[in-house]
Amino acid sequence: MSDKIALERRYGATNYAPLPIVLSRGEGPWLWDDEGRKYLDMLSAYSAVSFGYGHPKILKAFTDQAARLAVTSRAFHSDTLPPFLAKLCEVTGMDRALPMTTGAEGVETAIKCARKWAYVSKKVPRDTAEIIVCDGNFHGRTSTIVGFSSEPQYRDDFGPYATQGFKHVPFGDATALAAAITPNTAAFLVEPVQGEAGIVVPPEGYLKECERICRERNVLLIVDEVQTGLGRTGKVLAIHHEGVKPDGLILGKALGGGLMPVSAFLAREDVMGVFKPGDHGSTFGGNALGAAVGLASLNVLLDENLAERSATLGDYLLKKLKAVQSPVVTDVRGKGLLIGVELDPRKVSARRFVETLLKHGVLSKDTHGTVARFAPPLIVERADLDWAVDRIRDALREYGP
Ligand code: PMP
Repeated sequence: MSDKIALERRYGATNYAPLPIVLSRGEGPWLWDDEGRKYLDMLSAYSAVSFGYGHPKILKAFTDQAARLAVTSRAFHSDTLPPFLAKLCEVTGMDRALPMTTGAEGVETAIKCARKWAYVSKKVPRDTAEIIVCDGNFHGRTSTIVGFSSEPQYRDDFGPYATQGFKHVPFGDATALAAAITPNTAAFLVEPVQGEAGIVVPPEGYLKECERICRERNVLLIVDEVQTGLGRTGKVLAIHHEGVKPDGLILGKALGGGLMPVSAFLAREDVMGVFKPGDHGSTFGGNALGAAVGLASLNVLLDENLAERSATLGDYLLKKLKAVQSPVVTDVRGKGLLIGVELDPRKVSARRFVETLLKHGVLSKDTHGTVARFAPPLIVERADLDWAVDRIRDALREYGP
Protein backbone atom coordinates (compact mmCIF):
# COMPACT_ATOMS: atom_id res chain seq x y z
CA MET A 1 0.00 0.00 0.00
CA SER A 2 1.19 3.53 -0.73
CA ASP A 3 2.63 5.24 2.36
CA LYS A 4 0.29 8.20 1.74
CA ILE A 5 -2.76 5.96 1.92
CA ALA A 6 -1.40 4.31 5.07
CA LEU A 7 -0.85 7.72 6.67
CA GLU A 8 -4.38 8.82 5.83
CA ARG A 9 -5.79 5.56 7.19
CA ARG A 10 -3.80 6.09 10.39
CA TYR A 11 -4.83 9.72 11.03
CA GLY A 12 -7.95 10.38 8.96
CA ALA A 13 -11.51 9.89 10.12
CA THR A 14 -13.27 6.82 8.79
CA ASN A 15 -16.21 8.51 7.06
CA TYR A 16 -14.83 7.99 3.54
CA ALA A 17 -13.63 4.99 1.56
CA PRO A 18 -11.59 6.56 -1.27
CA LEU A 19 -10.55 4.50 -4.27
CA PRO A 20 -6.92 3.32 -3.97
CA ILE A 21 -5.25 6.13 -5.91
CA VAL A 22 -3.17 9.08 -4.69
CA LEU A 23 -3.71 12.11 -6.93
CA SER A 24 -0.99 14.69 -7.20
CA ARG A 25 -1.63 16.79 -10.32
CA GLY A 26 -4.43 17.83 -12.65
CA GLU A 27 -4.65 19.58 -16.00
CA GLY A 28 -7.81 20.03 -18.08
CA PRO A 29 -9.74 16.76 -17.81
CA TRP A 30 -6.64 14.75 -16.83
CA LEU A 31 -5.24 13.70 -13.46
CA TRP A 32 -1.91 12.14 -12.53
CA ASP A 33 -1.19 9.96 -9.52
CA ASP A 34 1.90 10.24 -7.32
CA GLU A 35 3.72 7.73 -9.51
CA GLY A 36 3.07 9.70 -12.69
CA ARG A 37 0.26 7.53 -14.10
CA LYS A 38 -2.31 9.49 -16.11
CA TYR A 39 -6.11 9.16 -15.81
CA LEU A 40 -9.11 10.67 -17.52
CA ASP A 41 -11.34 12.21 -14.86
CA MET A 42 -14.93 11.11 -15.45
CA LEU A 43 -16.18 12.38 -12.08
CA SER A 44 -15.11 16.05 -11.94
CA ALA A 45 -15.30 15.97 -8.12
CA TYR A 46 -19.09 15.47 -8.39
CA SER A 47 -19.36 18.45 -10.82
CA ALA A 48 -17.11 20.77 -8.78
CA VAL A 49 -14.46 20.65 -11.51
CA SER A 50 -16.79 21.13 -14.47
CA PHE A 51 -14.37 23.56 -16.17
CA GLY A 52 -11.35 21.26 -15.79
CA TYR A 53 -8.26 21.41 -13.60
CA GLY A 54 -6.39 24.70 -13.65
CA HIS A 55 -8.52 26.51 -16.23
CA PRO A 56 -6.14 29.38 -17.14
CA LYS A 57 -8.74 32.17 -16.82
CA ILE A 58 -10.15 30.94 -13.51
CA LEU A 59 -6.69 30.24 -12.15
CA LYS A 60 -5.55 33.75 -13.09
CA ALA A 61 -8.59 35.31 -11.39
CA PHE A 62 -7.77 33.21 -8.32
CA THR A 63 -4.07 34.03 -8.09
CA ASP A 64 -4.53 37.75 -8.89
CA GLN A 65 -7.28 38.09 -6.33
CA ALA A 66 -5.56 35.97 -3.67
CA ALA A 67 -2.55 38.25 -3.87
CA ARG A 68 -4.67 41.40 -3.68
CA LEU A 69 -7.47 40.62 -1.19
CA ALA A 70 -8.98 37.28 -0.21
CA VAL A 71 -11.13 37.26 2.92
CA THR A 72 -12.91 40.30 4.29
CA SER A 73 -16.14 38.98 5.88
CA ARG A 74 -19.39 40.76 5.09
CA ALA A 75 -18.77 43.40 7.74
CA PHE A 76 -17.58 45.55 4.81
CA HIS A 77 -18.18 45.75 1.09
CA SER A 78 -15.58 44.40 -1.32
CA ASP A 79 -14.99 45.47 -4.90
CA THR A 80 -15.41 41.93 -6.31
CA LEU A 81 -18.69 40.85 -4.69
CA PRO A 82 -21.12 43.27 -6.42
CA PRO A 83 -20.16 42.28 -10.01
CA PHE A 84 -20.38 38.60 -8.99
CA LEU A 85 -23.89 39.05 -7.56
CA ALA A 86 -24.98 40.94 -10.68
CA LYS A 87 -23.62 38.22 -12.96
CA LEU A 88 -25.25 35.46 -10.90
CA CYS A 89 -28.64 37.17 -11.25
CA GLU A 90 -28.13 37.84 -14.95
CA VAL A 91 -27.13 34.22 -15.70
CA THR A 92 -29.92 32.63 -13.63
CA GLY A 93 -32.72 35.14 -14.19
CA MET A 94 -33.20 35.46 -10.42
CA ASP A 95 -33.60 38.81 -8.63
CA ARG A 96 -31.18 38.51 -5.70
CA ALA A 97 -28.24 36.37 -4.65
CA LEU A 98 -26.93 35.36 -1.23
CA PRO A 99 -23.45 33.85 -1.50
CA MET A 100 -22.44 30.98 0.76
CA THR A 101 -19.60 28.48 0.75
CA THR A 102 -20.79 24.88 0.44
CA GLY A 103 -23.82 23.37 -1.26
CA ALA A 104 -25.33 22.28 2.06
CA GLU A 105 -25.06 25.85 3.37
CA GLY A 106 -26.90 27.06 0.27
CA VAL A 107 -29.67 24.54 0.98
CA GLU A 108 -29.84 25.56 4.67
CA THR A 109 -30.15 29.17 3.53
CA ALA A 110 -33.02 28.23 1.21
CA ILE A 111 -34.83 26.38 4.00
CA LYS A 112 -34.52 29.28 6.45
CA CYS A 113 -35.61 31.78 3.82
CA ALA A 114 -38.63 29.69 2.75
CA ARG A 115 -39.80 29.25 6.35
CA LYS A 116 -39.52 32.92 7.17
CA TRP A 117 -41.31 33.76 3.93
CA ALA A 118 -44.18 31.45 4.95
CA TYR A 119 -44.48 33.17 8.36
CA VAL A 120 -44.21 36.68 6.98
CA SER A 121 -46.10 36.39 3.69
CA LYS A 122 -48.52 33.49 4.10
CA LYS A 123 -49.16 34.04 7.81
CA VAL A 124 -48.47 30.38 8.53
CA PRO A 125 -48.43 29.95 12.35
CA ARG A 126 -44.86 30.20 13.70
CA ASP A 127 -42.93 26.88 13.79
CA THR A 128 -45.42 24.96 11.69
CA ALA A 129 -44.14 25.58 8.13
CA GLU A 130 -43.66 22.48 6.00
CA ILE A 131 -41.22 21.88 3.22
CA ILE A 132 -41.96 19.13 0.73
CA VAL A 133 -38.95 17.13 -0.46
CA CYS A 134 -38.55 14.11 -2.70
CA ASP A 135 -37.84 10.49 -1.95
CA GLY A 136 -34.25 9.75 -2.93
CA ASN A 137 -33.19 13.37 -2.42
CA PHE A 138 -29.65 14.47 -1.69
CA HIS A 139 -29.17 18.02 -0.48
CA GLY A 140 -26.11 17.72 1.77
CA ARG A 141 -25.01 16.40 5.13
CA THR A 142 -25.93 18.83 7.90
CA SER A 143 -28.09 17.39 10.66
CA THR A 144 -31.16 19.29 9.41
CA ILE A 145 -30.62 18.07 5.86
CA VAL A 146 -29.95 14.40 6.71
CA GLY A 147 -33.06 14.56 8.91
CA PHE A 148 -35.14 14.66 5.70
CA SER A 149 -33.04 12.24 3.70
CA SER A 150 -34.83 9.04 2.73
CA GLU A 151 -31.51 7.19 2.57
CA PRO A 152 -31.00 5.22 5.82
CA GLN A 153 -27.20 5.44 5.62
CA TYR A 154 -27.24 9.23 5.49
CA ARG A 155 -29.91 9.58 8.16
CA ASP A 156 -30.49 6.78 10.61
CA ASP A 157 -27.77 7.12 13.24
CA PHE A 158 -27.81 10.91 13.46
CA GLY A 159 -31.09 11.76 15.14
CA PRO A 160 -32.87 13.21 17.01
CA TYR A 161 -33.36 15.81 14.34
CA ALA A 162 -33.63 19.40 15.42
CA THR A 163 -36.57 20.05 13.17
CA GLN A 164 -39.85 18.58 12.08
CA GLY A 165 -41.65 20.01 9.11
CA PHE A 166 -40.48 17.97 6.12
CA LYS A 167 -42.77 15.81 4.02
CA HIS A 168 -41.79 13.37 1.28
CA VAL A 169 -43.29 12.81 -2.14
CA PRO A 170 -42.11 10.43 -4.88
CA PHE A 171 -39.64 12.10 -7.25
CA GLY A 172 -41.10 12.58 -10.72
CA ASP A 173 -44.76 12.53 -9.60
CA ALA A 174 -46.38 15.99 -9.81
CA THR A 175 -49.81 14.65 -8.80
CA ALA A 176 -48.33 13.48 -5.49
CA LEU A 177 -46.88 16.96 -4.97
CA ALA A 178 -50.30 18.57 -5.52
CA ALA A 179 -51.85 16.16 -3.01
CA ALA A 180 -49.17 16.81 -0.37
CA ILE A 181 -49.56 20.61 -0.27
CA THR A 182 -51.39 22.04 2.77
CA PRO A 183 -51.98 25.66 3.87
CA ASN A 184 -48.75 25.34 5.92
CA THR A 185 -46.56 24.38 2.97
CA ALA A 186 -43.79 26.89 2.44
CA ALA A 187 -41.82 25.28 -0.36
CA PHE A 188 -41.13 22.33 -2.58
CA LEU A 189 -37.40 21.57 -2.71
CA VAL A 190 -36.28 19.44 -5.66
CA GLU A 191 -33.27 18.42 -7.76
CA PRO A 192 -33.91 18.60 -11.54
CA VAL A 193 -31.98 15.32 -11.93
CA GLN A 194 -31.24 13.32 -8.78
CA GLY A 195 -27.46 12.91 -8.88
CA GLU A 196 -26.62 11.07 -5.69
CA ALA A 197 -29.66 8.82 -6.07
CA GLY A 198 -27.93 7.37 -9.14
CA ILE A 199 -28.59 9.89 -11.95
CA VAL A 200 -32.38 9.68 -11.90
CA VAL A 201 -33.98 11.75 -14.68
CA PRO A 202 -37.67 12.60 -14.07
CA PRO A 203 -40.31 12.33 -16.83
CA GLU A 204 -40.34 15.19 -19.33
CA GLY A 205 -42.55 18.08 -18.25
CA TYR A 206 -42.30 17.17 -14.54
CA LEU A 207 -40.62 20.36 -13.37
CA LYS A 208 -42.89 22.52 -15.52
CA GLU A 209 -45.94 20.87 -13.92
CA CYS A 210 -44.39 21.36 -10.45
CA GLU A 211 -43.91 25.03 -11.30
CA ARG A 212 -47.58 25.35 -12.29
CA ILE A 213 -48.79 23.62 -9.12
CA CYS A 214 -46.53 25.67 -6.84
CA ARG A 215 -47.63 28.91 -8.49
CA GLU A 216 -51.31 28.02 -8.21
CA ARG A 217 -51.02 27.04 -4.53
CA ASN A 218 -48.67 29.87 -3.48
CA VAL A 219 -45.82 27.50 -2.60
CA LEU A 220 -42.20 28.32 -3.38
CA LEU A 221 -40.51 26.15 -5.98
CA ILE A 222 -36.88 25.84 -4.85
CA VAL A 223 -34.56 24.01 -7.21
CA ASP A 224 -31.28 22.54 -5.99
CA GLU A 225 -28.91 22.85 -8.96
CA VAL A 226 -25.77 22.35 -6.89
CA GLN A 227 -24.86 19.34 -9.03
CA THR A 228 -26.89 19.91 -12.22
CA GLY A 229 -26.22 23.64 -12.62
CA LEU A 230 -23.68 25.54 -14.71
CA GLY A 231 -23.75 23.47 -17.87
CA ARG A 232 -23.67 19.96 -16.43
CA THR A 233 -26.92 18.73 -18.05
CA GLY A 234 -26.49 20.53 -21.38
CA LYS A 235 -28.06 23.89 -20.46
CA VAL A 236 -26.69 26.61 -18.20
CA LEU A 237 -29.31 25.43 -15.67
CA ALA A 238 -31.17 22.13 -15.89
CA ILE A 239 -34.46 24.05 -15.40
CA HIS A 240 -33.83 25.73 -18.77
CA HIS A 241 -34.65 22.44 -20.53
CA GLU A 242 -38.29 23.18 -19.68
CA GLY A 243 -38.23 26.96 -19.33
CA VAL A 244 -38.95 26.77 -15.60
CA LYS A 245 -38.59 29.87 -13.45
CA PRO A 246 -38.22 28.88 -9.81
CA ASP A 247 -38.73 31.12 -6.77
CA GLY A 248 -35.48 29.95 -5.24
CA LEU A 249 -32.37 28.34 -6.67
CA ILE A 250 -29.25 26.84 -5.11
CA LEU A 251 -25.89 26.70 -6.88
CA GLY A 252 -22.56 25.37 -5.65
CA LYS A 253 -19.82 23.00 -6.75
CA ALA A 254 -18.79 24.30 -10.23
CA LEU A 255 -19.38 27.88 -9.09
CA GLY A 256 -16.00 27.65 -7.33
CA GLY A 257 -14.28 26.92 -10.64
CA GLY A 258 -12.68 23.74 -9.29
CA LEU A 259 -10.49 25.84 -6.99
CA MET A 260 -12.50 26.55 -3.88
CA PRO A 261 -15.95 26.22 -2.32
CA VAL A 262 -18.44 28.85 -3.52
CA SER A 263 -22.22 28.45 -3.35
CA ALA A 264 -25.24 30.72 -3.55
CA PHE A 265 -28.92 30.85 -2.79
CA LEU A 266 -30.82 32.97 -5.30
CA ALA A 267 -34.43 34.05 -5.03
CA ARG A 268 -37.11 36.31 -6.34
CA GLU A 269 -37.27 39.79 -4.84
CA ASP A 270 -40.02 39.38 -2.22
CA VAL A 271 -38.73 36.01 -1.06
CA MET A 272 -35.17 37.12 -0.41
CA GLY A 273 -36.63 40.31 1.02
CA VAL A 274 -37.72 38.50 4.21
CA PHE A 275 -34.08 38.34 5.35
CA LYS A 276 -33.20 41.34 7.51
CA PRO A 277 -29.69 42.32 8.66
CA GLY A 278 -28.50 39.76 11.20
CA ASP A 279 -30.95 37.00 10.12
CA HIS A 280 -28.40 34.88 8.33
CA GLY A 281 -24.75 34.78 7.30
CA SER A 282 -21.45 32.94 7.14
CA THR A 283 -17.93 34.26 7.73
CA PHE A 284 -16.59 33.05 4.39
CA GLY A 285 -19.76 33.48 2.30
CA GLY A 286 -19.23 36.10 -0.39
CA ASN A 287 -15.52 36.54 0.35
CA ALA A 288 -13.60 38.61 -2.19
CA LEU A 289 -11.65 35.62 -3.49
CA GLY A 290 -14.70 33.41 -3.91
CA ALA A 291 -16.52 36.23 -5.69
CA ALA A 292 -13.65 36.73 -8.15
CA VAL A 293 -13.43 33.01 -8.84
CA GLY A 294 -17.21 32.67 -9.12
CA LEU A 295 -17.39 35.53 -11.60
CA ALA A 296 -14.53 34.08 -13.67
CA SER A 297 -16.25 30.66 -13.64
CA LEU A 298 -19.54 32.11 -14.91
CA ASN A 299 -17.68 34.00 -17.64
CA VAL A 300 -15.84 30.85 -18.74
CA LEU A 301 -19.11 28.89 -18.82
CA LEU A 302 -20.70 31.51 -21.11
CA ASP A 303 -17.69 32.58 -23.21
CA GLU A 304 -16.72 28.99 -24.04
CA ASN A 305 -20.33 27.82 -24.65
CA LEU A 306 -19.73 24.96 -22.25
CA ALA A 307 -23.43 24.22 -21.74
CA GLU A 308 -23.86 23.58 -25.48
CA ARG A 309 -20.69 21.55 -25.47
CA SER A 310 -22.08 19.48 -22.61
CA ALA A 311 -25.30 18.89 -24.59
CA THR A 312 -23.47 17.78 -27.74
CA LEU A 313 -20.82 15.69 -26.04
CA GLY A 314 -23.36 14.32 -23.55
CA ASP A 315 -25.62 13.05 -26.37
CA TYR A 316 -22.57 11.57 -28.05
CA LEU A 317 -21.33 9.82 -24.89
CA LEU A 318 -24.81 8.56 -23.99
CA LYS A 319 -25.24 7.02 -27.46
CA LYS A 320 -21.78 5.44 -27.35
CA LEU A 321 -22.35 4.00 -23.89
CA LYS A 322 -25.77 2.67 -24.91
CA ALA A 323 -24.12 0.96 -27.86
CA VAL A 324 -21.67 -0.92 -25.63
CA GLN A 325 -22.96 -4.49 -25.60
CA SER A 326 -22.49 -6.06 -22.18
CA PRO A 327 -24.61 -8.49 -20.17
CA VAL A 328 -23.42 -6.64 -17.06
CA VAL A 329 -25.09 -3.31 -17.98
CA THR A 330 -28.81 -3.00 -17.18
CA ASP A 331 -29.38 0.69 -17.97
CA VAL A 332 -27.61 3.78 -19.32
CA ARG A 333 -29.24 7.14 -18.59
CA GLY A 334 -28.49 10.80 -18.10
CA LYS A 335 -28.71 14.33 -19.39
CA GLY A 336 -25.78 16.24 -20.89
CA LEU A 337 -22.52 15.14 -19.33
CA LEU A 338 -24.21 13.65 -16.27
CA ILE A 339 -24.54 9.98 -17.06
CA GLY A 340 -25.14 6.86 -14.98
CA VAL A 341 -24.45 3.30 -16.07
CA GLU A 342 -26.41 0.78 -14.02
CA LEU A 343 -24.82 -2.60 -13.49
CA ASP A 344 -26.32 -5.96 -12.60
CA PRO A 345 -25.28 -6.41 -8.94
CA ARG A 346 -25.37 -10.20 -9.32
CA LYS A 347 -22.54 -9.89 -11.84
CA VAL A 348 -20.45 -7.03 -10.45
CA SER A 349 -20.76 -4.35 -7.80
CA ALA A 350 -20.36 -0.77 -8.99
CA ARG A 351 -17.47 -0.38 -6.54
CA ARG A 352 -15.58 -3.31 -8.05
CA PHE A 353 -16.29 -2.02 -11.53
CA VAL A 354 -14.93 1.48 -10.84
CA GLU A 355 -11.84 -0.11 -9.27
CA THR A 356 -11.33 -2.10 -12.47
CA LEU A 357 -11.86 1.03 -14.53
CA LEU A 358 -9.24 2.81 -12.46
CA LYS A 359 -6.68 0.22 -13.60
CA HIS A 360 -7.64 1.05 -17.19
CA GLY A 361 -6.99 4.77 -16.58
CA VAL A 362 -10.53 6.12 -16.16
CA LEU A 363 -11.74 7.68 -12.91
CA SER A 364 -15.39 7.21 -12.05
CA LYS A 365 -17.42 6.72 -8.88
CA ASP A 366 -19.89 4.13 -7.69
CA THR A 367 -23.25 5.28 -6.35
CA HIS A 368 -25.62 3.08 -4.35
CA GLY A 369 -23.79 -0.12 -5.20
CA THR A 370 -25.16 -0.44 -8.71
CA VAL A 371 -24.43 2.76 -10.65
CA ALA A 372 -21.15 4.00 -12.13
CA ARG A 373 -21.26 7.71 -12.74
CA PHE A 374 -19.70 9.39 -15.78
CA ALA A 375 -19.51 13.19 -15.54
CA PRO A 376 -16.26 14.45 -17.08
CA PRO A 377 -15.22 18.11 -17.08
CA LEU A 378 -17.22 19.92 -19.78
CA ILE A 379 -13.99 20.91 -21.57
CA VAL A 380 -13.25 17.24 -22.38
CA GLU A 381 -12.53 16.43 -26.05
CA ARG A 382 -14.64 14.04 -28.11
CA ALA A 383 -11.53 11.90 -28.75
CA ASP A 384 -11.01 11.59 -24.98
CA LEU A 385 -14.55 10.26 -24.64
CA ASP A 386 -13.92 7.75 -27.45
CA TRP A 387 -10.84 6.59 -25.55
CA ALA A 388 -12.80 6.36 -22.29
CA VAL A 389 -15.61 4.33 -23.85
CA ASP A 390 -13.03 1.86 -25.19
CA ARG A 391 -11.60 1.56 -21.67
CA ILE A 392 -15.11 1.09 -20.22
CA ARG A 393 -15.70 -1.66 -22.77
CA ASP A 394 -12.38 -3.30 -21.79
CA ALA A 395 -13.31 -3.14 -18.10
CA LEU A 396 -16.80 -4.57 -18.71
CA ARG A 397 -15.30 -7.49 -20.63
CA GLU A 398 -13.67 -8.61 -17.40
CA TYR A 399 -17.17 -9.41 -16.09
CA GLY A 400 -18.93 -10.84 -19.12
CA PRO A 401 -18.45 -11.68 -22.80
N1 PMP B 1 -27.20 19.42 -3.30
C1 PMP B 1 -26.92 18.52 -4.26
C2 PMP B 1 -27.91 18.28 -5.35
C3 PMP B 1 -25.70 17.82 -4.23
O1 PMP B 1 -25.44 16.93 -5.18
C4 PMP B 1 -24.79 18.10 -3.20
C5 PMP B 1 -23.45 17.40 -3.11
N2 PMP B 1 -23.34 16.17 -3.71
C6 PMP B 1 -25.12 19.05 -2.21
C7 PMP B 1 -26.34 19.69 -2.30
C8 PMP B 1 -24.23 19.36 -1.06
O2 PMP B 1 -23.13 20.09 -1.46
P1 PMP B 1 -21.84 20.20 -0.49
O3 PMP B 1 -21.22 18.84 -0.45
O4 PMP B 1 -20.98 21.24 -1.14
O5 PMP B 1 -22.35 20.63 0.84
